[in-house]
Amino acid sequence: MKPQKAKPLQPRPLSPKATGKNAAAAATAFSLSKGEGEGLYHRSILETGIANGAGGVRNLADTFADTSLWIFDLDNTLYPAECNLFAQIDARMSAFIQDLLGVDPVEARRIQKQLYYEHGTTLAGLMAEHGVKPEAFMDYVHDIDLSPIQPAPELADAIVRLQGRKFIFTNGSARHAERIAEKLGVLDKFDGIFDIATGGYVPKPKPQAFRRFMDFCSGGNCGSAMFEDLPHNLEAAHALGIVTVLVRSDYLDHPSQHALKAAGRLPDYIHFETDDLAAFLRQVTASQAKEKAAPTAPPEHPSS
Ligand SMILES: [Mg+2]
Repeated sequence: MKPQKAKPLQPRPLSPKATGKNAAAAATAFSLSKGEGEGLYHRSILETGIANGAGGVRNLADTFADTSLWIFDLDNTLYPAECNLFAQIDARMSAFIQDLLGVDPVEARRIQKQLYYEHGTTLAGLMAEHGVKPEAFMDYVHDIDLSPIQPAPELADAIVRLQGRKFIFTNGSARHAERIAEKLGVLDKFDGIFDIATGGYVPKPKPQAFRRFMDFCSGGNCGSAMFEDLPHNLEAAHALGIVTVLVRSDYLDHPSQHALKAAGRLPDYIHFETDDLAAFLRQVTASQAKEKAAPTAPPEHPSS
């Protein structure tokens, strides 16, 4: 793919907080999402913002009205964390460090997490502090068993229905993303993959990674939404005016996830949370269709 001309990334304001009619619509959207399927769980600032005094009410159709760029993380987002696929990668990262530095498994694990927290990814830390070649690391850690990944036709269908362009934005490798997406049956539903190599090995949540991503897809001036399992990546996205959706994961691997769990409520930078990505996307497109089909109220005629 020929590199596209870079455009400056312009932070955009989010949709205004809903009031009156929109607040009622948001309440409807919430109740519908709660009842749609077993295990389905959507939360919005509607539920948490009022309780914690932050944020405000958000209506799905309004919030995503001008979204034409849909950004998806890969691991523990496009596939459920419960399948434990990322646990395999996590274990292989520790094994790589154990072999590289000649330390025991416990020390390797400690070093891995320290590098991850301090540098954004384990790889970024290994490159900065130990001169590791990224390709060798990526090939090693992504050499995993994909059998826990099941085809996800409902997710594929939900992605297709989104109006606009769709990209995978991952701190992993393109080859890993392609293998996962192919197994899920969603690979051909995306317009592109922005992997860690394409981003010059600068990982999310660093602002430079987001700038490079937006340059890659010429997305700096259009409405965007991002789906992620890691809260701190969404915090960076929110700072750029991107609508943020947390895909809930019980694989707690970062202080930002522990902090969110301890807080017991969503911070302002997370606009929605779901544990069923396909169902949430369906909810978005359904709310947009409903809004489009709604009759326009006739203009009021002043009485004379
Ligand atoms: Mg992830």
